[in-house]
This record gives sequence, C-alpha cells and structure tokens, in this order.
Amino acid sequence: MLNNHSTSSIEHIRDVFRQKKQLFSRKRQAIVEILLSHNKPMSAYEIAEQYLLDEGKVIAPMSVYRIIDTLISLDIVHKVHSINKFIACTHLTCQNSHGLLMLFICKTCKKVYESTINPTMLQSFISNILPNGYHTTKEPLEIQCICEECHV
Ligand SMILES: [Zn+2]
Ligand SMILES: [Zn+2]
Repeated sequence: MLNNHSTSSIEHIRDVFRQKKQLFSRKRQAIVEILLSHNKPMSAYEIAEQYLLDEGKVIAPMSVYRIIDTLISLDIVHKVHSINKFIACTHLTCQNSHGLLMLFICKTCKKVYESTINPTMLQSFISNILPNGYHTTKEPLEIQCICEECHV
C-alpha cells in the first residue's frame, strides 16, 4: 500500500520516464512501487517474490534485473553494492540533483540512509590519497554504520 508521499513519487517517476521517452510499463511501475513501499534494501529475488504476491504473476529474476538497470540509469533506484540489494531513491520528489551519492548502511538492520557529497570536496580529499593512474568511478560511496534504533 502506498502512502501519499509514495503516490507523489510515482507521479514524479512517470514524468521522468516521459522526459526520457521511455515506457513506464505496468511491470516497471510494479517494481518501483515494491521498492517504495519497503524501507529497506531488497534483492532481485525478494522483489520477484513480492511481485508474485502483489501482481499474482511470476517474474523472472533476469527481468527484475533488466528493469532495475533501467531504473538505476534514471536515478530512480540505487544499487547498494556492498549487500547487492536495491533501494528506491529517497529524494525523488525534491529538486536536488544528485551530487555524489553516499549511502550509510546500518550493519544490523540494513536500513540505508541516503546522502550526497559535494564532488569537489571529495575530489580534493581523494586526490591526496589516490595512487597515480587510478580513477574513481561513479558508484556510490558506502559507509557501514549502526543506526540510531540499533545502537544500544
Ligand atoms: Zn537518490
Ligand atoms: Zn539499524
């Protein structure tokens, strides 16, 4: 079940697809809705299982991956590389364009807090420690931490 915030997110996502001249198919929408209604990262298999519950249809994990790739390329979904799972972008409806993505992952409950970092700031820090000839890639930075709720 989507709350109001998620409903406006869906409208925003529909616009993104329209602008990029991509089809916002029923399958794509269903997967976006699954990720929006979960506040924790999901694997492709977990998404496929939820899809079956929500839509009453089987979806192959390969199709899930393909759809997720499209959603990632549109900045609607982010991959959490360290745990090989996916989250819906948490600032879909605000106008902030992504700086460099930074994800804080709770080691205990796997909840992800999404933030961005100023690329110039990061570059000046990294350039001091990066070996000659190495280049950074655009994958998000991931920091393992313990969230407020799990911290005892
Ligand atoms: Zn985001
Ligand atoms: Zn936690």
